[in-house]
Amino acid sequence: MLHTELGDITKVGDVDAIVNAANKSLMGGGGVDGAIHRAAGPELLEETEKLGGCETGDAKISSGYNLPVAHVIHTVGPIWHGGDESEEALLANCYRRSLEVAVEHGFRTIAFPSISTGVYAFPVDQAATIAVDTVRAVTAEDPDAFEMIKWVLFDEETKAAYDKALRSGTE
Ligand code: ADP
Repeated sequence: MLHTELGDITKVGDVDAIVNAANKSLMGGGGVDGAIHRAAGPELLEETEKLGGCETGDAKISSGYNLPVAHVIHTVGPIWHGGDESEEALLANCYRRSLEVAVEHGFRTIAFPSISTGVYAFPVDQAATIAVDTVRAVTAEDPDAFEMIKWVLFDEETKAAYDKALRSGTE
């Protein structure tokens, strides 16, 4: 049920929602956020600028417009400041809140990017462990809620970190 693939999340069409690693303004930006806004088209920004921003660790939903998916869940990862500013807990909140929003909308299949490990500089091995542990914890609480959750990763090194995190632990 949990797996990884190498690729561009803006091309993913086999899930109910993709997750965007957004920033607090929800006005678009660089990295995966910029790619999602470009692929979705200007209507996405028209919607997200009305959402009133988003706190770090929280998540909000929009339509997908020209994306191959119907919905985008926008979450705001923490900026890495060395690890003493609750970055780990905030990153875990991103995964937890994104999945809560998904459940509220009846979504059963979700694709995540590697939240915070680009411009926000979260160490990728640590981020992958938190991502996998949090998704496992949430799905263990409600085993029937999701059919498939995957990470769509942009480069081999990031994919290797998530694959390693998935191999370790209980599953
Ligand atoms: P953050 O600001 O949360 O660090 P970034 O977008 O800078 O977000 O980076 C998060 C991860 O998303 C990085 O691993 C980056 O390589 C990756 N990424 C960038 N574009 C895409 C894309 N189109 N599809 C999937 N992942 C992407």
